[in-house]
Amino acid sequence: MRAADYLSPILTKSRTEEVLDALVGMIEAADLKVGDKIPAETELCEQLGVGRTTIREALNRWEGLGLVRRRRGSGTFLIAHIRPSKGLIPTKTKLEGEGLLRLVDIRRTLEIESVQRAARYATKQQKEIIIAAYKKIIKLVEKDRPWMEADREFHDAIHLASGNPLYGQILAELDDAFHASKFKGSPFDNPKFGHRSVTLHAHLRDAIVEESPAKAKAAICGILDKVEEEIRELTGAN
Ligand SMILES: [Zn+2]
Repeated sequence: MRAADYLSPILTKSRTEEVLDALVGMIEAADLKVGDKIPAETELCEQLGVGRTTIREALNRWEGLGLVRRRRGSGTFLIAHIRPSKGLIPTKTKLEGEGLLRLVDIRRTLEIESVQRAARYATKQQKEIIIAAYKKIIKLVEKDRPWMEADREFHDAIHLASGNPLYGQILAELDDAFHASKFKGSPFDNPKFGHRSVTLHAHLRDAIVEESPAKAKAAICGILDKVEEEIRELTGAN
């Protein structure tokens, strides 16, 4: 992949984004830490001179990225360390990257169990679905087309084969919350994102077809390691 493939068009900042930038500045200046409370919505509206809807939208995004927890009646609390980006990478991208890393972390614990079960329990028919899903991914990647949906189908098929569909459902919910919270032009929406891990999916497919839980565990870890590596490079997240 060429370095320029990671670039996306420069977009003007939305009000929401400006609010979040201001909040990042406030959090740093006031040295707010995990567990600390963010000023009330009404106070934010007054100080920033923006409407309540904008404040809510901004905080909803942060909630989706796993940065804050909002409690009805008691306010909004920081649940992650938030600091501005010091380099060329925009702060929003850094925060998205860190959010995605936390998601990959959770994903890893669930996936390891799920793929091992799939290697034990997948039926002939489920194996065929997994094989077909992998073919679909490769076709899309070869044509340089978005492949994330196909990737999701591949992993969904594995979660179904695990015998407990909740694995897939929980991961899909976490994914959806994250994806809904990203800004336009996010590098994580780029169809090139994740390319490094594509061929490793073949190892996972083979492990399940061969009914080897140990290989399946190694394969999913390999995929997630590559994804993490790419997130760190793209965002300077740590
Ligand atoms: Zn995948």
